[in-house]
Amino acid sequence: MITLDDVTLTFPDGSSRVTAVDHVTLTGRAGVVTGITGPSGSGKSSILALAATLIRPDSGRVLIGGEDAAALSADAATSLRRERIGIVFQQSNLLASLTAREQLQVMGELGGSHRKAARAQVRERVDELLDAVGLSAHADKRPAQLSGGQRQRVALARALVRSPQVLLVDEPTSALDQESGAAVMELIARLTHERGTATLLVTHDLVHSPALDELVTVVDGRVTGVAATTGTIDGPVKSAVV
Ligand code: ATP
Ligand code: MG
Repeated sequence: MITLDDVTLTFPDGSSRVTAVDHVTLTGRAGVVTGITGPSGSGKSSILALAATLIRPDSGRVLIGGEDAAALSADAATSLRRERIGIVFQQSNLLASLTAREQLQVMGELGGSHRKAARAQVRERVDELLDAVGLSAHADKRPAQLSGGQRQRVALARALVRSPQVLLVDEPTSALDQESGAAVMELIARLTHERGTATLLVTHDLVHSPALDELVTVVDGRVTGVAATTGTIDGPVKSAVV
């Protein structure tokens, strides 16, 4: 579970400051896809960056599994991020020289043991995830040899390789056509429900709302609405929120 508790974030803007996130409180629960939507510049990516512990709020708490990430040292925040959070950005940010399998393997081994048994365990997990995202047949291809949708699926599998509690996804379909975008969204929903991640997903395109369990609307840095969606993808029983 991840909670932003009364979080505010400002950025310098000439001699004053601009408020990107204004007293936002929201919760992502295990096994639930929480969509975050709103106009351009409303603070969606800033909310994800706060949840990712990539930036610190001016005030408020960012609770990840009950621990306040905003109060941790930079080193502690980095290890918390590595162990508990998976991130997928708009562009898949894959390394051009590595095959799909290697992207996952590198992430899985990061900071871990180089012992044979440990590496074999990571390899097993990598194969299982490549299968889960439907890319076993493309495991030895590099990003340039994959379609946009396949690249996003590699990025998604890579984000899950360390079994994070929290999955953060920013506009995963913006570079994709409608059909492969829908496939990526369905995959995110299925993996969230199966693996129990608390998933926060930024999207401005509500054509993808069937893949969301809840939808938080943000305008001018403030939460203006929280609703259960009519998602059609197998998942937890939908219930009204707030
Ligand atoms: P979009 O839909 O266009 O991606 P968004 O909802 O993700 O927009 P943010 O990127 O979170 O919006 O930006 C929120 C506000 O904070 C905007 O006014 C933006 O200009 C400002 N902002 C974001 N990042 C920075 C930064 N690094 N420095 C200064 N201002 C920033
Ligand atoms: Mg954004």
